[in-house]
Amino acid sequence: MAENTQSIRTLPGIGPKKAQLFAKLGIETLGDLLRFYPRDYEDRTKLLPIASLEADTPACFIASVVTNPQTHRIPKPGNRQLEYTKVVVADHTGRLNLTFFNASYTAQRLIRGETYCFYGTLTGDYLGYAMANPLFEPLDSEGNVTRRIMPIYPLTAGLTNKQVAQAVQAAIARCRIEETIPDEIREAYGLCDADSALREIHTPSSAQSLEEARRRLIFEEFYVFSAALSIVRAKRTVRTVPAYQTDDMAQFYDALPFGLTGAQQRAIGEILSDFRAGKPMSRLVQGDVGSGKTMVAAAAAFCAGKNHKQVALMAPTEILAKQHLDRLAPLLEPLGIRCILLTGSLSAAQKKAVRQAIADGEADLVIGTHALLTEATVFSDLGLVIADEQHRFGVAQRAALLAKGEQPHLLIMSATPIPRTLALILYGDLDVSVIDELPPGRQPVETFLVDERYRSRLNGFIRKQAEEGHQTFIVCPAIEEGETESFKAAEQWAQTLKNSVFPNLRVALLHGKMKGAEKEAVMESFAAQKYDILVATTVIEVGVDVPNATLMVVENADRFGLSQLHQLRGRIGRGGAKSYCILVSDNRNEETLARLKALCATSDGFRIAEEDLKLRGPGDFFGSRQHGLPVFHIGNLAQDLNVLKQAQQAAADTVAAGDISPALQSAVDALLNNDNFVMN
Ligand code: ADP
Ligand code: MG
Repeated sequence: MAENTQSIRTLPGIGPKKAQLFAKLGIETLGDLLRFYPRDYEDRTKLLPIASLEADTPACFIASVVTNPQTHRIPKPGNRQLEYTKVVVADHTGRLNLTFFNASYTAQRLIRGETYCFYGTLTGDYLGYAMANPLFEPLDSEGNVTRRIMPIYPLTAGLTNKQVAQAVQAAIARCRIEETIPDEIREAYGLCDADSALREIHTPSSAQSLEEARRRLIFEEFYVFSAALSIVRAKRTVRTVPAYQTDDMAQFYDALPFGLTGAQQRAIGEILSDFRAGKPMSRLVQGDVGSGKTMVAAAAAFCAGKNHKQVALMAPTEILAKQHLDRLAPLLEPLGIRCILLTGSLSAAQKKAVRQAIADGEADLVIGTHALLTEATVFSDLGLVIADEQHRFGVAQRAALLAKGEQPHLLIMSATPIPRTLALILYGDLDVSVIDELPPGRQPVETFLVDERYRSRLNGFIRKQAEEGHQTFIVCPAIEEGETESFKAAEQWAQTLKNSVFPNLRVALLHGKMKGAEKEAVMESFAAQKYDILVATTVIEVGVDVPNATLMVVENADRFGLSQLHQLRGRIGRGGAKSYCILVSDNRNEETLARLKALCATSDGFRIAEEDLKLRGPGDFFGSRQHGLPVFHIGNLAQDLNVLKQAQQAAADTVAAGDISPALQSAVDALLNNDNFVMN
């Protein structure tokens, strides 16, 4: 493995500047290069006689040079010149004029009477056919730029495809490629070996061998992932913790202002039975927005507190943490659970006092952001960690937490509905509780799909909400206007609305490029009804409860995934008043419209998730990285679900047999130490 961890700087031709460009692509070591798979391929295997070349279809042909290359230079205004080189080539079926623009040096390498293989695209007009700037190479240097399948790599400005390809080849030549999958498993599942898979994925010898390589690498990626989960899971079940007693729960239920839903009761029941069993809990509670996950967390916190254990409740933002305190303290304090808030915006003296209280065991429930765990916060006896809507709480963090020695129970609350089949696989190291029921009396958000013709009525509707004292979210797909695509961009749209459309309304702007404190200030002002309209990007997806907001307008709704839209829509309909979500799209694509209409028709997050997963695959569908699903380089969770299932079975067998090779172990370690390996 030693070579794989070497810096790419050790390769010839890669100095500090190049290395920086590679770093932009996430490549720092030779191993990174090996796993930097092409995003696409260009098939240059088709070889035709000149007479059979088709216009606009690139192909290879073998031809002899029949004239000496002639370079012409024509002066152009401004000290520049047009330079081109003409040469005629022929085979037994015909002749072809080649023109090389600004490439005389290259073209002059063509020697009259010699035969070459060319690759280019024929273009035709009434003057006949010609070809501009074909690639070529002598016949004996087979398959360098012609007659092969060329890899096309993701690039960044300053790096060419050729440079990346060369670096990859150099890495392949230098590294010993370790086999992570045991022979019997490769045999059972018909997988090629690691070495040929990597060579084939970068320089395919045929479409079929490329496909075999891809399947092997996808399998391997899922296999290592599943092995990591199995190993983490196996570690956690060995240890036991003191069992909690749960006799006091009636006190908690009696104090609630409402009866719990069946789904809430079930989830709480599952948590309590983990507590009683005395095994460290690792449980994911999945429930749609508004399904009442906070009360489930509160029940768990109450139980731990009654057992004289401390609880850390982590929220993704400070405002959410504050909101949790405001909701939970009035419920839990009278029951003897002392609540305290620890956030970055406290003064140094306040923080010190709060930390002291935590260390002295004078606080039972500590609410804050997840800096709670990393900061110098010492608990006197931490029994339970709850991560709420925590999109960046990965397997690695979970493992680190368990390694803290205290073995706190872990409860993760997620509002990202993931199809059950997928959840069971992806959260292999977690137990999952699903809250699939909303509290009674909730009015579903009425959702409509409209196009631009509806714009003036829409504006009237927004004004009406404001007149009634209600607020509106307007979600845009981009922050700033781009050059090529014409989406509504939050910055410009907010300006337009403020200046020309709603001069009498108060319009605020919120997007991901703003600083954390700035964002929170805007959210807080909006929640305090200091604005009528909040124009935002998807940053509001995980956000504050603004029960007074009754309308959400989503601009260019077709740009979003269904689950993401559903998630956004969950920001409204939280108060008593009837709420509306208006999806604006001028897209006429039937499939797109069907997708959006499906969202109008149902408010069941799990059904929407299934639907979206089918249509788009998880990568797109959950929007960005913040979906919380792990990032796979080559595997695609929607398309490759079968391979995932096979790989998971294979990994379970390997781990159960204790048959973990050093190569597999180091691949697992690399995965667990990777920040990108993030799951809810
Ligand atoms: P989420 O699952 O999105 O975190 P919350 O926990 O914030 O949902 O709950 C949403 C709203 O529903 C809150 O105002 C909460 O008080 C209320 N709620 C929760 N459970 C019930 C219930 N069983 N009956 C009535 N209202 C409930
Ligand atoms: Mg919540």
